[in-house]
Amino acid sequence: STMPPLLSAIANAGRHGVLAKSAVVMERLGQIDTVALDKTGTLTEGTPRVTDVHPLPGSGLTEETLLALSAAAEHPSEHPLARAVLDAADERGLALPEVTDFSSAPGQGVSATVDGRKVQVGSPARLVPCVTGPAQALARELEDAGRTAVLVLCDGAPAGMIAIADRLRPDAATTVAALTALTGRPPVLLTGDNPRAARRLAAEVGISDVRAGLLPQDKAAAVRQWERGGEGDGGGEGDGGGERRKVLVVGDGVNDAPALAAAHTGIAMGKAGSDLALETADAVVVRDELATIPAVVALSRTARRLVV
Ligand code: ADP
Ligand code: MG
Repeated sequence: STMPPLLSAIANAGRHGVLAKSAVVMERLGQIDTVALDKTGTLTEGTPRVTDVHPLPGSGLTEETLLALSAAAEHPSEHPLARAVLDAADERGLALPEVTDFSSAPGQGVSATVDGRKVQVGSPARLVPCVTGPAQALARELEDAGRTAVLVLCDGAPAGMIAIADRLRPDAATTVAALTALTGRPPVLLTGDNPRAARRLAAEVGISDVRAGLLPQDKAAAVRQWERGGEGDGGGEGDGGGERRKVLVVGDGVNDAPALAAAHTGIAMGKAGSDLALETADAVVVRDELATIPAVVALSRTARRLVV
């Protein structure tokens, strides 16, 4: 071909199912030495399903009312966990009460007024300073099984717990192995989810470095610290103390946008990716396969060698 190497690299990336937004992206992708992967929707399929609905003793709620209140509060959210709750309510044929005052906090959960009650659905660790008693025991049990336990508060009081499970992508383990071979170090998992479920999933694909319970800005801070040559764990070395990394971040959610922006290169999973992630990323995976990522990293390196 007579195309300049970086342009033909873009065309090749497209054939592999990754849309790079510019030729510069292909060049930068060829420089990365560290990969940080998001969990939900990136390492996993992003189509989680509700497995358990547990009203808490004393809440006065049935499984159905708990699910209906939660689904109503989640209705305006585009988060994969929200879709899971809505699907579960739909499958049980529940009518959703009316919602006003919806708001969402990325990486934390949602809040809304449902039937005159304030309903909050989200991360147990973020919603209440400390989860105690039956709610805590239940959350641990569900999380140890690799599930995401979502807490429901009604007018500020713990009312129930909903367990949600997502499957690893079929190509997650081979992708992690390929990225490890390309960069010489295994990818790191960055997630807002609980550490128990995150570690369990990570172990299944060969990832041992897991940063869990992160807010969107925490994900970005970890990336910036690696890029400055710090340890990326929030403490210790500080600027220039270690090797400066060039980080590839792969994510799909609104909660991944700050990390995608901070990264040397950011790639968004396109199929179920949020608009903000797609806009912020340098490239978008349009074929819904994780294995496209090591393929384009390898490709971008070849293109770079042709240029320099
Ligand atoms: P990840 O980093 O794995 O993609 P997020 O940062 O999007 O996860 O979410 C982190 C945690 O915040 C979830 O595990 C969940 O506990 C809570 N959360 C976020 N959004 C929602 C929502 N719409 N409904 C319920 N819980 C939510
Ligand atoms: Mg995600």
